[in-house]
Amino acid sequence: MEVCYQLPVLPLDRPVPQYVLSRRGAISFSSSSALFGCPNPRQLSQRRGAISYDSSDQTALYIRMLGDVRVRSRAGFESERRGSHPYIDFRILHSQSESEVPLSARNIRRLLSFQRYLRSSRFFRGIAAQNALYILDDDYNGQAKCMLEKVGNWNFDIFLFDRLTNGKNSLVSLTFHLLNQHGLIEHFHLDMVKLRRFLVMVQDDYHSQNPYHNAVHAADVTQAMYCYLREPKLAKTFTRWDVLVGLIAAATHDLDHPGVNQPFLIKTNHYLATLYKNTSVLENHHWRSAVGLLRESGLFAHLPLQDRQQMESQLGCLILATDISRQNEYLSQFRIHLDKGDLRLDNSDHRLFILQMALKCADICNPCRTWELSKHWSEKVTEEFFNQGDVERKYKLDMSPLCDRRKEKMSDIQIGFITYLVEPLFVEWARFSNTRLSQTMLGHVGLNKASWKGMQQEQSSSGDDTDPDHAFEETDLDTLPQEDRVS
Ligand SMILES: [Zn+2]
Repeated sequence: MEVCYQLPVLPLDRPVPQYVLSRRGAISFSSSSALFGCPNPRQLSQRRGAISYDSSDQTALYIRMLGDVRVRSRAGFESERRGSHPYIDFRILHSQSESEVPLSARNIRRLLSFQRYLRSSRFFRGIAAQNALYILDDDYNGQAKCMLEKVGNWNFDIFLFDRLTNGKNSLVSLTFHLLNQHGLIEHFHLDMVKLRRFLVMVQDDYHSQNPYHNAVHAADVTQAMYCYLREPKLAKTFTRWDVLVGLIAAATHDLDHPGVNQPFLIKTNHYLATLYKNTSVLENHHWRSAVGLLRESGLFAHLPLQDRQQMESQLGCLILATDISRQNEYLSQFRIHLDKGDLRLDNSDHRLFILQMALKCADICNPCRTWELSKHWSEKVTEEFFNQGDVERKYKLDMSPLCDRRKEKMSDIQIGFITYLVEPLFVEWARFSNTRLSQTMLGHVGLNKASWKGMQQEQSSSGDDTDPDHAFEETDLDTLPQEDRVS
């Protein structure tokens, strides 16, 4: 079988001093040697050529990610990006016009923009929070600023906002605005250059090639999180720290997502699956990537060590809670609390639990949006599933559920998703926070589900559901195994 991912090739295997922790692209994770199932972690680092550990601190291991990933282009050059994901030949999945050329142009634009504002003396004169939005003027126009005034509106169109913010700058602009609006930049004395750098790195670490798990999804989740944080129960009791953790967790919760799911990483023996012992592989990676970028940017370097540790650990609590395979675990815990009526929001542990539930809601809230937005998200996630299915077919791997474009239908996928995951979660959320927003979200879910059912019935009455050729026509024949090609 042809190799469908590429391990990092970096001749950098040597112990990493602790102070280098925040170097560009480094991801840290706490571990013992047993984590890798081999007695000597160095064996693994030698094998990969890219993993080192700090010999003075046996609990810390570092993966060096710089230059780790090279996405091959048709033009024959390799464009580097931050982070790590399983190597997949994206020539299969994406046209050149969708990936390399705009990416490179955008990076240059960002670099120029960053240089421009670094040269500005405003930052070195100590002009800070009250003018925070000023630095983004170059990056979005008046319309985007107008949209931000209504960022708490549930009908907020994140796709439009993304187009208005230089197309793909929505996560930086939106997160910066929300942190500023809550007075968090001023309260926590955040350095705006570091904050900006952190947010740009976060946005860059999302894969723009992914149809769904990209920076626009992260911006959408951050906007939803903001709406939930404004709900009366939360707004009254949550501290500025809680809001800071909640917004950063939302912005980083899918960092460096490879566009394939955990079973794919496991069956292709990807090193992340080995590293995290096949458990919440992606979520662990998102969390560790977020920690790496926080340390690299030095955003919280001025805070006491205890606060920094708390931030990293709470980010982990929140991001790991987005593992959809653990949904029932969180949901039953939520139900027990609601049945007993024992949630006390003056208790920091309970507030953290509600932040977890809020992030889970924000992460799967697509069907709670208006039909137009919801349908657009559905198309994107289906495309990502089917792209994975195409790779699985090409490399003769087991086909993952929902990924076979020849068999699956978007309406069926959505009805199942809404019935088994979305409705149960949002019904409980509405019990916790019975507000107009919760009722609006449940209303949209009901209407959207009815729309999908209508489409499902139309397809079955037209006999569409038993016509694999229809799906087959949409498949790029170059991605198919030889025996499946049309003769
Ligand atoms: Zn997500």
